[in-house]
Amino acid sequence: MGLKIAWGAVALSFAACEPARSPGGVRISIPSNATKFSLSNGLEVVLNEDHRAPFVALNLRYHVGGKDDPVEHAGLAHLYEHLMFCGSAHVARDDFLPTLDRLGARAHNGTTTRDYTEYFETVPANALDEALWLEADRMQTAVDHFDEATLAREKQIVDNEEKLKVENSALGNVSTFIAAALYPPGHPYRHLPMGTPETLRGVTLEDLHAFHDRYYGADNATLVLVGDFDSGVARRLIESYFGPAAPSKAPPPARRVAAVTASATKRIRVNAAVPYGAVRVTWPLPVPGQPGFYESWAGLTLAGWTVDSRAVERKLAESVSASFAPGRLSTTGEIRAVLAPGASADAFVELVSDVIHALSNATRLTYLPDLRSSVIGADVFLQEDLYARASRTQFYDEAYGDPNHVMPELRALDALESSRVIDAYGSLLAMDRALVTVVVADPQAPLAGAEAP
Ligand SMILES: [Zn+2]
Repeated sequence: MGLKIAWGAVALSFAACEPARSPGGVRISIPSNATKFSLSNGLEVVLNEDHRAPFVALNLRYHVGGKDDPVEHAGLAHLYEHLMFCGSAHVARDDFLPTLDRLGARAHNGTTTRDYTEYFETVPANALDEALWLEADRMQTAVDHFDEATLAREKQIVDNEEKLKVENSALGNVSTFIAAALYPPGHPYRHLPMGTPETLRGVTLEDLHAFHDRYYGADNATLVLVGDFDSGVARRLIESYFGPAAPSKAPPPARRVAAVTASATKRIRVNAAVPYGAVRVTWPLPVPGQPGFYESWAGLTLAGWTVDSRAVERKLAESVSASFAPGRLSTTGEIRAVLAPGASADAFVELVSDVIHALSNATRLTYLPDLRSSVIGADVFLQEDLYARASRTQFYDEAYGDPNHVMPELRALDALESSRVIDAYGSLLAMDRALVTVVVADPQAPLAGAEAP
């Protein structure tokens, strides 16, 4: 199933849930009226009614992801996600998605990230009952229908997915090399959630059952509904269908997570059979709720804008982008470029370094108000996408314990002064905390890339 690679270029953005002042003085109002409760088995439920269109987005997030893979079985959470589509007590093998299709569902799939596994579907309002029943059925019974044949087939499918997205994909290995360079041995983010044929080959049904007992109980999941439904009716349906689901049977293993401390610039070089060279500059950054989270997000985004315009102007890069991926154990910020033909990687890295240095000595950040406007605008548009809102609600709830965190987030953004972001350039975003990855175009190297010694 679809896999959200941790390095996706998803910019975190901010939203307002009550009238907020944009820099131009326009008052913006985004409703934010999610309610939250828990069933006696520990399942957490968030309901957010919006009656503008006759659809409901369901998002069932299990708080388990690549970070929870057993050391010897990287990719187990992802493989488990695949098995969840293969039948349960009342759904025939492989009939889960076709059943949703018959209900008129769209945007239905699953995804496994470093931190979590989400199952989601957007259905016509009159199909909410069936969709809840389907999710409850597989939460309670899918594991009892795992068998050797299905496991062997899904391993093969994951192998093919890995070949498509990693092994045979341009620069497919680069994120793997970066994770291994950025996170210390033993860190749960050191491998990507995809897994590899080698790490998944030995997975047994017993491994999957042990994983289920630890991570797939009702108390390790959050169900979010956004859209056209009545909260009272939805609550009764959820209590009836999910109420009998069992909580986790075993506690997750205790572990110590080593801190990610990039204390000196590290550099890795990758050769790949791609037409242009590339550069990625990666920083480990604070997690949501930690000091410096908003400052590093704003600082990274503004630096990305500046680097983009200067690199294009100097014909150093074909394209430049910045990404910020909040994580529960570590956030990742990155500026990446596809170099222009003949452009030097060193010159691009120097440009990034110069921009960070100049911004760390600035007296004010001219474009900070523009950044505020763009994120508020993005969140207004986000309201039109039920799937995206449901997933964002999960993020707020998981990171802050508050599905309506949009307002505190907007306040934090409003309070973000230039001086604090400028300080971040000299500390969190300093170049001596960054990992620099240089990709050299080499027709003899594999397309996915090989790490040079
Ligand atoms: Zn998959």
